Amino acid sequence: MTNIPEIYGCMVFNDAVMRQRLPRDVYKSLTYTIQTGKTIDVSIANVVANAMKDWAVEKGATHYTHWFQPLTSVTAEKHDSFISPIGGDKVVMDFSGKELIKGESDASSFPSGGLRETCNARGYTAWDPSSYAFIKDNTLYIPTVFCSYTGDALDTKTPLLRSMDAISEQALRILALFGDTATSRVVTSVGAEQEYFLINKELFDKREDLLYTGRTLFGVSAPKSQQLEDHYYAPLKTKISQFMQELDMELWKLGIASKTKHNEVAPSQHELAPIYVTTNVAVDQNLIVMETIKKVAERHGMVALLHEKPYAGINGSGKHNNWSLGTDTGKNLLSAGKNPASNTQFLLFLAAIIKAVDDYQDLLRLSVATPGNDHRLGADEAPPAIVSMFLGDELEELIDAIVGDIDYTDKAKRTMDLGVPSVPTFRYDSTDRNRTSPFAFTGNKFEFRMVGSSQNLSLPNIVINTAVAKSLKDFADALADEGDLECAARELIKRTFKEHKRIIFNGNGYSDKWPVEADKRGLLNFKTSVDAFHCLTDPKNVELFTQFGIMSSVELCAREEILFENYSKVIDIEAKTMVDMVHKKIIPAIERYVAHLTGVAKDKLEVFGAAAPVSLERRLIGELSLLADTAYDTAEKLKSAAALADGEQDCKISAFAYKNKVIPLMIGLRSAVDRAETMIPSNIWPLPCYGDMTLKQ
Ligand code: ADP
Ligand code: MG
Repeated sequence: MTNIPEIYGCMVFNDAVMRQRLPRDVYKSLTYTIQTGKTIDVSIANVVANAMKDWAVEKGATHYTHWFQPLTSVTAEKHDSFISPIGGDKVVMDFSGKELIKGESDASSFPSGGLRETCNARGYTAWDPSSYAFIKDNTLYIPTVFCSYTGDALDTKTPLLRSMDAISEQALRILALFGDTATSRVVTSVGAEQEYFLINKELFDKREDLLYTGRTLFGVSAPKSQQLEDHYYAPLKTKISQFMQELDMELWKLGIASKTKHNEVAPSQHELAPIYVTTNVAVDQNLIVMETIKKVAERHGMVALLHEKPYAGINGSGKHNNWSLGTDTGKNLLSAGKNPASNTQFLLFLAAIIKAVDDYQDLLRLSVATPGNDHRLGADEAPPAIVSMFLGDELEELIDAIVGDIDYTDKAKRTMDLGVPSVPTFRYDSTDRNRTSPFAFTGNKFEFRMVGSSQNLSLPNIVINTAVAKSLKDFADALADEGDLECAARELIKRTFKEHKRIIFNGNGYSDKWPVEADKRGLLNFKTSVDAFHCLTDPKNVELFTQFGIMSSVELCAREEILFENYSKVIDIEAKTMVDMVHKKIIPAIERYVAHLTGVAKDKLEVFGAAAPVSLERRLIGELSLLADTAYDTAEKLKSAAALADGEQDCKISAFAYKNKVIPLMIGLRSAVDRAETMIPSNIWPLPCYGDMTLKQ
């Protein structure tokens, strides 16, 4: 039997290891940096580096890498070995403080949105001591930030760390008003629920669309998919259970507290949730989770699909970003306590978040805007593209009472009695769930549910942290000189609720009536990601990010350009893949079947003469020939439309051309091909079908 507590975190240079291996003063100095986010004292870096190296080498590591998060959707790493020649053809294992703190690379091939010319290719990685180093594949991974020679952030982590500082600083001002002097840092925590699909590797290998784009570009729904709702929480198949056990073990070794696992709604879809941690660590951990899911799946003869919509017609995958705000003394600032109505501090933080979500709905929408997520949002399986908040009956009643000056008494906790004596009674939660809400209060945290499954969680959290920091700043400024804090705060809370109530929606977000109602309320509805990208550089948003030093206007422009470019590239790859598959697989398959049918008709005519019953063959040949024609024509049009879109110099115009001209042709092409799939025998159809892919893992 594996002793889990013993192996938990064994591959992480965590607090326990640091305490054990570092001299006392070095340990204290390093933990101070980790806890406060203050700059590290360079003099200790050599000592830390040496201890890290000794520990890593003992565990079999031969290399180290500065692990960073460029503006692609994946992480980056370049490995250097610890070896250092000492003469006499000998080497020692060496790692200096300089190498720990700073890495330099010619990183000109990462997206920079024009922030770096290829001729000025130098990029730097710098150690992020607040996220522990760890060992994977005999390599010491050092979490780092990534910037250009001129100091512009080229990654997702730098602005995230800045946003964590910004919200802490402003929240501390509010706490100070309420007389809290014990707290020295306010920390945002994130728990990321990760959805994914698993598919048999042999089937995966037969589909270029999955290989190149991560999703199926063709394919007819299977007769049975998720209609019976019999996969959600269903018992795990042995193979899946074994996969999940190994996955948990790998994650536990890396100090990732994988806690919950279950089957999800769609067939072959699953979910994993670790226990929440500080935001930047949660983001790092989620990236490791995604990578580990893929690696372990491979060992079990499967491929993990992290795309937001691997299959049309069944649910896609998202990532719920559970977010809360707490003090370094362990208090959750989003806990209402027993009497929310009289908890002014809680109501003030709640008001700040409501104001933030309403004021920056555009940025929240933008933070989840990816071509993959366009397939999910608003498709009755995920929240709509309209940002709104769910607070639950109790808080909404309370807010109504505050806005309307009505007396409100806190609800006593209610007890559930099922009338079955043997079942113990229990208290039930003050909020029900609302699966359709994009931003839902769930007791003592908010759950942002719009995030796509393959996304890096940084941007959504940068936006939440910074937007809330802004509300808190406005509040702290307004309340700073008030004599009667309680009275002034109450007035401010009431005003804020009144002004921003439109963002609260407790109803069914999937209903057709909601977009109409949302429009009346003046809420934004960016239906696709391309419609949302421009928000990043809207003056009010540039003002927000620059005010708190999160991103400069140059960095924002660069990131917006990357969003547009990435969109175009993704759609271009999808279009090219479709054309390729049509030419190389689909049309040849149709022709093969037509040839077979022609042969059958010929045989029949030979045997039966003019009276031969060949009307079926005629009909099939006729329809299939027409479909092949349509597929060929549409593929040609698609090719030209993609080339035209690609030729546009302006990245915005190009992205919109992909959306408006290319995607409709892709939809048309798919419909012709899918119709053909329904008519062609499975031994001739060249692609694994939906039923096999989703039910035969
Ligand atoms: P759900 O109601 O969505 O099933 P769970 O309680 O299972 O919620 O938690 C889902 C995720 O939320 C987990 O990753 C969990 O660790 C995280 N979580 C729980 N409490 C908090 C909190 N205070 N702050 C941030 N994340 C939290
Ligand atoms: Mg959840």
